[in-house]
Amino acid sequence: MARRTIIAGNWKMNKTPSEAVALAKELIPLVGNDNVDVVFCVPFIDIVPVVEAVKGTNVKVGAENLYIEDSGAYTGEISADMIKDSGAEYVIIGHSERREYFNESDAFLNTKVKKALEKGLIPILCCGESLEQRETGVTIDFVRYQIKCDLAGISADDAKKIVIAYEPIWAIGTGKTATSDQAQEVCQAIRECLAEIYDQATADAIRIQYGGSMNASNAAELLAKPDIDGGLVGGASLKPDFGEIVAAG
Ligand code: PEP
Repeated sequence: MARRTIIAGNWKMNKTPSEAVALAKELIPLVGNDNVDVVFCVPFIDIVPVVEAVKGTNVKVGAENLYIEDSGAYTGEISADMIKDSGAEYVIIGHSERREYFNESDAFLNTKVKKALEKGLIPILCCGESLEQRETGVTIDFVRYQIKCDLAGISADDAKKIVIAYEPIWAIGTGKTATSDQAQEVCQAIRECLAEIYDQATADAIRIQYGGSMNASNAAELLAKPDIDGGLVGGASLKPDFGEIVAAG
């Protein structure tokens, strides 16, 4: 089954609102690939101006996080309704930086995925092993565990809307990319896990991205693998290289 390629940039905690608009305008002419869904995931404060900047283009906007409650006394948090009303369509959930620095557990992330779906946002759900886990040989066990916990109680119809990003932690921001075979092996295992949880048709419908030092020179080889349907791109999404990654999709 043909899955549409999706390339998303994760801008992380970079770019003030005016810088974000300038970057969006610089990248828009470089990312016009009709075969690819293109998403800029930006800091909360940049969502409104970037949504305005991409109006009328092929680019969609995503948030990098959300909170599980709808409203109330949660000082400093941002709800799914706020994100949606700002014009964003996607939200990154469970990035390894949030798992590590903000102690986000799989149970909490499962609630976030459900909240995003309930509010009509498309979750980009991240998973991936540490270097220690890879060296111990538990990569696939660990990633399967994350997927099963994070998708617990989510229907097949809802699961089909989710994008999964396999991001080995040791490859994020380090310049060390997983080889295309390593990335394919885990993405295939994720799809097999999805088929066990749901069924083959559902597993075949879900898009799985690779993330971890994806750049203009390695993107084409990674994206050519049968179970890799796109990329979640950090560092290179802030540069014109992002256009070359989109062109490779
Ligand atoms: C990321 O943070 O999701 C990521 C993949 O970063 P980088 O491309 O910089 O490794």
